[in-house]
Amino acid sequence: MTTSPLSLQEFMLENQFAELPAHFYTHLAASPIDKPYLVAASTEVAAQLNLDQASLNSPEFLNYFSGNQLIPGSKPLAAVYSGHQFGVWAGQLGDGRALLLGGTSHAEQHLEIQLKGAGMTPYSRMGDGRAVLRSSIREFLCSEAMAALNIPTSRALCVIGSDQMVFRETPETSAVVARVAPSFVRFGSFEHWYYNDRMDDLRLLADYVIALSYPELQTENNPYQALLATVTTRTATLMAQWQAVGFMHGVMNTDNMSIIGQTLDYGPFGFMEAYDEKHICNHTDQQGRYSYRMQPAIGNWNCQALAQALSPVIGSVDDTNAALSHYPAVYRKKWTELMHQKFGLKTDQEGDLDLFAGFFTLLQSNHADFTLSFRHLSKLSNQKSTKDELLRDLFLDRDGLDLWLLDYRARLGMEQSDDKTRQASMLSVNPKFVLRNYLAQVAIEKAQKKDFSETRKLLSILKNPYDEQEEHEDYAELPPDWARHLEVSCSS
Ligand code: AMP
Ligand code: MG
Repeated sequence: MTTSPLSLQEFMLENQFAELPAHFYTHLAASPIDKPYLVAASTEVAAQLNLDQASLNSPEFLNYFSGNQLIPGSKPLAAVYSGHQFGVWAGQLGDGRALLLGGTSHAEQHLEIQLKGAGMTPYSRMGDGRAVLRSSIREFLCSEAMAALNIPTSRALCVIGSDQMVFRETPETSAVVARVAPSFVRFGSFEHWYYNDRMDDLRLLADYVIALSYPELQTENNPYQALLATVTTRTATLMAQWQAVGFMHGVMNTDNMSIIGQTLDYGPFGFMEAYDEKHICNHTDQQGRYSYRMQPAIGNWNCQALAQALSPVIGSVDDTNAALSHYPAVYRKKWTELMHQKFGLKTDQEGDLDLFAGFFTLLQSNHADFTLSFRHLSKLSNQKSTKDELLRDLFLDRDGLDLWLLDYRARLGMEQSDDKTRQASMLSVNPKFVLRNYLAQVAIEKAQKKDFSETRKLLSILKNPYDEQEEHEDYAELPPDWARHLEVSCSS
C-alpha cells in the first residue's frame, strides 16, 4: 500500500534492532551539534522514505537528521560488532560514531536510518565520534552515484554540516550523514558472538537477520546454511559489479561488509582512472590487500570469515563449505555477463574471455582511463572510421589497439552486430560520469567555504551517469594534472 508523502510532523520510526537483548547494543542519544545547516539532500531517498520534498528545507529536518531532536518512535542505539581488519582479528569494534535511529516501511520496502558522526558511543575507542565534512560529502555523493549505477549500496538522505571543529591531520569542520539501508548488520556482527563463544546470541542474530532481510529463507531445511549461501552469492555478485565500473572500496574489513550484500561504509574509496590492476585507493593500505585486483578474492575471504562465524548454527563443516563453495563460479559468471554487456556482445562465444583479456592488457600497459575507454568503445562503428580516434587518443600503443580492434570487429561480425542497437546498449552500461576523486575534492573545497552548489550539482550529474549531459562535458574529462596524485586515507 502506498500512502501520500508524509510531512515531518507525521514521520515516525520504529527500532526493530532494539528488540534484540540489551547486550547487542547501547541505547544513547546523539550528541547535539552547533547550528546545523543543510549541505545536500537526496530527493530520491526522501521519496523512498515517503517523506515529502518540502520537508527537506525545514528546520525540523535539520534537527532530526543532525541528531539534535528525536524523531517520534526512534530509539537511537549504537550496535556492537567485531571484525577482521586487514586480515587480522581486531576484536570488538562497534558503532563508534553511528547511531541507528530505527526504521520505516513504505511501498513494501523496509528502510533503516543511521546517523554517522553523531557523537561518541561506548564503542568509540580512541575516536571522537564525529565525521568530517570532507568524508561525509564523499560518502553522500558516492552512495547516490553507486545507486544510479545500479550497484547495491546503502543510500544517503542528507549531509548536515556544523561549524563545530574536529581534529584529524588538521582541524576540520564536522558533519552528520543520514544513511539509509534495509539493514546495517555486518559480517562482523556475527563474528562478534562467535569469537565470544556466545552461540545463543549468534543464533538470535541469525534469526533476526533472516526474519528482517531474508524471510523467504525461513522455510528452508537449514535456514542458516541458506543465509550463508545467499550472502555469498550477493557478495560475489557485488564484487563483479564493483570490478565492472572500476570501483574500489579501500577498506574491505569484515566489519564493513554488509549482510545484505550492499556496498557499505564509504571511506577512502576510489574509481579507477588510469588503469592499473594493482591500484590501491587507500594510501594506508601499503600491502595492497584491498587493491583493485584483490577485491574479488577478498570478498571470498570475507565470506569465509562469515562462514566460520555461522558454522556452529549451520551445524557441520560440510554444510558450511557447501554454502560457500559457489563464490568463484558466481563471481565469474556475473563478471562475464557484465563484460559481455560492456563490450556490446549479445552472445557468449568461445574466445570471448581472451578478447576481454586483450583489452584489459592494453588498458594496463597504456594506463588508459577506465571509464573513458569503455565509454568511447561504446561509440565505435562496425567499420574502422574517424570515430575510432577518441578511443585511440587514450592509448599510446595505437598499433596494439588497432590489432585488438580487428579482433573485436571480427567478433562483432560473428553476431551481425548492428551499430545503433549495440551503441545504445553499451552506452546504457558504460557510464560517462563517475565520482572521480578530483570532482569530489572540488566540491568539498567549495563546501568548506559554505558554497554547497558544487556538491549539489555533482549529485545531479551523477544521478544520470549514462546520459550524455553535453552541458557537463568537463565532468567526464580526464583528471587535471594537480589531481593525479590525490591521496585518500582512512582518516575521516
Ligand atoms: P572504519 O574503518 O571507518 O570502518 O572504522 C572502524 C571502526 O572505527 C568502527 O568501529 C568505527 O565506528 C570506528 N571509528 C572510525 N572513526 C571513528 C571516530 N571518529 N570516532 C569513533 N569511532 C570511529
Ligand atoms: Mg566501518
